[in-house]
Amino acid sequence: MAKLDEYQRKRRFDRTPEPAGPAPAEKGPEPSSENTFVVQKHAARRLHYDFRLAIDGALKSWAVPKGPSLNSSDKRLAVQTEDHPLAYGGFEGKIPEGNYGAGTVMVWDRGTFFLEGNGDALQQLAKGEIKFSLNGEKLRGSFALVKLKNSEKGNEWLMIKHKDASEDSAWNVDAHDGSVLTGRVIEEIAQELPPKRSVSLLYPYELDGARKSAMPSRFEPML
Ligand code: MN
Repeated sequence: MAKLDEYQRKRRFDRTPEPAGPAPAEKGPEPSSENTFVVQKHAARRLHYDFRLAIDGALKSWAVPKGPSLNSSDKRLAVQTEDHPLAYGGFEGKIPEGNYGAGTVMVWDRGTFFLEGNGDALQQLAKGEIKFSLNGEKLRGSFALVKLKNSEKGNEWLMIKHKDASEDSAWNVDAHDGSVLTGRVIEEIAQELPPKRSVSLLYPYELDGARKSAMPSRFEPML
């Protein structure tokens, strides 16, 4: 089980709506070759996208300043950050001023991934190269995250799209804006406007996540 010490040390949970995690339910589900990912658009001091893969009971996380790309000629800098609790994947809202990561968080994309490459996910991470295929609402197909050998801080990776049927050489991240959870854009989340569609959940444990805006509707398909 990954350690969430750094995540919890950086935050005051009486001052931020982010989930403290891990919730008891997070001891499951059992690890398998298919698991979940989430990308959160984060309008903080600097806008970036947080790419997170559920591995070993936590969300392995990278901050991608320019956002992910389906263009295989883009190599997007991805700075690894602290592991986040699984429940964070359902978090969308405002982190108040004065708190770590203050700003607005949108669930920009989410779905499942299959591991590719050799070895399990932790082995691939340790090697500094992990290959996986995403099945999200916006991101699809095969990707790699490759750690930069000359990274000064040791936390810089590149996120690269492999050439496959999901490739889009005309990719523009801004053309795919909006929350897959609530349909809202950053400004609407910042103003705490109501969801534009029913919130749907991927897993029951997300019921423990911080989401006060709407009752979940399990039978509403994700659009
Ligand atoms: Mn962030």
